[in-house]
Amino acid sequence: MADRRTAADPPPAASRRPGDLRHGARVTSPMTSATDLAELARQASGCTLCPLAAGRTQVVFGAGDPDADLMFVGEAPGRDEDLQGEPFVGRSGKLLDRLLLEELGVDRSRVYIANVVKCRPPDNRDPKAEEIAACRPYLHAQMDLIRPRVVITLGNFATKLLLETDLGITKLRGRSYPGPSWQLVPTYHPAAALRSGGVVVAEMRADLVRAKRLVGWSR
Ligand code: URA
Repeated sequence: MADRRTAADPPPAASRRPGDLRHGARVTSPMTSATDLAELARQASGCTLCPLAAGRTQVVFGAGDPDADLMFVGEAPGRDEDLQGEPFVGRSGKLLDRLLLEELGVDRSRVYIANVVKCRPPDNRDPKAEEIAACRPYLHAQMDLIRPRVVITLGNFATKLLLETDLGITKLRGRSYPGPSWQLVPTYHPAAALRSGGVVVAEMRADLVRAKRLVGWSR
């Protein structure tokens, strides 16, 4: 079982730069009573903190190794995820699985995968700011409990949330950002890679290789 240290206090907002993870909302979150992921998932399964609860089939909490060294954070469940209860099981997930295998040499059971919001937005629209704010403590609590060495954010929503910046993924990707107990590696959302192809997929591959080195999985 990995060491569960207490995160350092967040730096004050005024001194924060993109990359300084504030990671503070969890402290007063009602979810922090959970001491393991299973309990947190149980709490999340009945969540009604935002209107997305009304339209979901089920909460898509997250999946994978609860002690993972590498964690992925996507945007929100789509139709397939809502029906199956697991993140990234549709077309985007197939690409993610392939890149995981080809660039990191692992399957999804070796990592942990979660989303910024845990319930499907209607018609796959973007999650709204208030939905993200309501769901955010769950994500922070997941990160606290898993304590990954490296977090890969997939696309704008996860990257902007965790780096607390308005800059877009194209500007932010290509390097890593130190957090309180992990390195954050931003990359494109697989759906963007499916839409754009070539260069975007190649850059995603490069980001995964960067993360692999930081995790310590490089041969
Ligand atoms: N896109 C996401 O961001 N998350 C999923 O789980 C599926 C598609």
